[in-house]
Amino acid sequence: MSNYPELYMMIDGEKVTGGNRETFNVVNPATGETIGALPLADAADLDRALEVAEKGFKIWRKSSPQDRANVLQGAARLMMERREDLARTATMEQGKPLAEARIEVMMNVGLFNFYAGEVFRLYGRELVRPEGTRSTVRHEPVGPVAAFAPWNFPLGNPGRKLGAPIAAGCSVILKSAEETPASALGVLQCLLDAGLPKEVAQAVFGVPDEVSRHLLGSPIIRKLSFTGSTVVGKHLARLATENMQRTTMELGGHGPVLVFDDVDVERVLNTAVGGKYRNAGQVCVSPTRFIVQENVFAKFRDGFVERAQKIKVGNGLDDDTQMGPMANARRPEAIDRLIANAKGKGAILNTGGERIGNQGFFYAPSVLSEIPLDANIMNEEPFGPVALINPFKNEEDMIAEANRLPYGLAAYAWTEDYKRQQRLGVELEAGMIGINSHMIGGSDSPFGGVKWSGHGSEDGPEGVRACMVTKAVHEG
Ligand code: NAD
Repeated sequence: MSNYPELYMMIDGEKVTGGNRETFNVVNPATGETIGALPLADAADLDRALEVAEKGFKIWRKSSPQDRANVLQGAARLMMERREDLARTATMEQGKPLAEARIEVMMNVGLFNFYAGEVFRLYGRELVRPEGTRSTVRHEPVGPVAAFAPWNFPLGNPGRKLGAPIAAGCSVILKSAEETPASALGVLQCLLDAGLPKEVAQAVFGVPDEVSRHLLGSPIIRKLSFTGSTVVGKHLARLATENMQRTTMELGGHGPVLVFDDVDVERVLNTAVGGKYRNAGQVCVSPTRFIVQENVFAKFRDGFVERAQKIKVGNGLDDDTQMGPMANARRPEAIDRLIANAKGKGAILNTGGERIGNQGFFYAPSVLSEIPLDANIMNEEPFGPVALINPFKNEEDMIAEANRLPYGLAAYAWTEDYKRQQRLGVELEAGMIGINSHMIGGSDSPFGGVKWSGHGSEDGPEGVRACMVTKAVHEG
């Protein structure tokens, strides 16, 4: 496809490509066509990136807050200017509708501008001590960061992985998903063009397990930041233990949505259906398990199905598309398997449950209901366009179902009862909770989970602090 950008690795400000390096074919998920060949790092590339990151840290840890703010604000401005190109690139390599890709650009703009202010608020504190002596608590950048970003938000994930270390004064080596490299390179280029020293942020690609073992195996790396599945997150956390690297782990979820019988069902559906099928359901905070009080169950399920059937599925580059293809060939296969397993256990498939067309990775918006709790899909993150709707009797049962799984990323609840809203805010085991809303993020607000959904936060003041260490200095 025309106007898909060139692909390379960015090491020490140099576009690295060619040589004897292996390549990875980047595919447009709407057509199945190969649109680019991505060079993959060999061990020498990774060693060079590590050496440069060490230099970059020495430079950037001494930068003033104003230097950091200038770079972050400059990059935000450039992203605004390049918004259409960045969004098109993301849609070509990931599939999502252009409108959603544009929102990702704006999320990065908001986050970089927030961090540009936050760099002036990284205060330490002075302790009360006898005259002539002094004790201070300082917060310092942790060191070079290895950051791994997945393909579901090809612009937003790299924005988070780059923005926080840069605000904190760290250097960073980013390995974004090989399926969506050009978006990540586009975000990095905005930072470099805004004046970020070339040693401070680099991008490599490769065989994920080789790259992560190599980078985390080096004592140069002081922090791991990973977004992806719980199983890979646990593996990387184990690797990080060897060099005692700090970790921010943003892992899987299985978002429960509690719908009580005191709500306006139409109002909930107006929000929930769009939320479910955003990015074809490939969102870690996707609303997934709809836990519906029995009096409104049938109305909710039927309204959901009716709306799901009206969603316009197509190429994300087409203006009227509401849901694009899934991002890669693995996803429709996984969803087919999960739906077949659920049907085998007695679940009802109300709509969808099949691929659309014979090119690309399109899947029909799907709704399962009355699903036995031992079906795989009720326990594994589906990461696809499938809503799971089950009836429950009362608040106690609904909370128990919400907290049943080892995941705890996002949870949602709809009820008009104020006291119940308060209880749910306490009782639901999740890092982020939406009450009568599916909006659970913001540049100023911590994003992260509990239990198997990981630990540490991105975004907000917490995102920068996660890239810093504490030091106490006592002067006698
Ligand atoms: P996967 O689990 O192998 O990969 C997920 C991401 O992790 C990819 O970006 C991949 O490049 C990276 N990765 C995998 N192994 C790695 C390693 N050893 N070192 C460093 N990075 C590694 O498989 P997948 O098919 O891409 O996705 C499967 C599941 O991952 C999904 O069903 C979903 O549950 C989860 N996922 C979660 C998110 C999220 O935002 N939390 C994003 C993408 C995928």
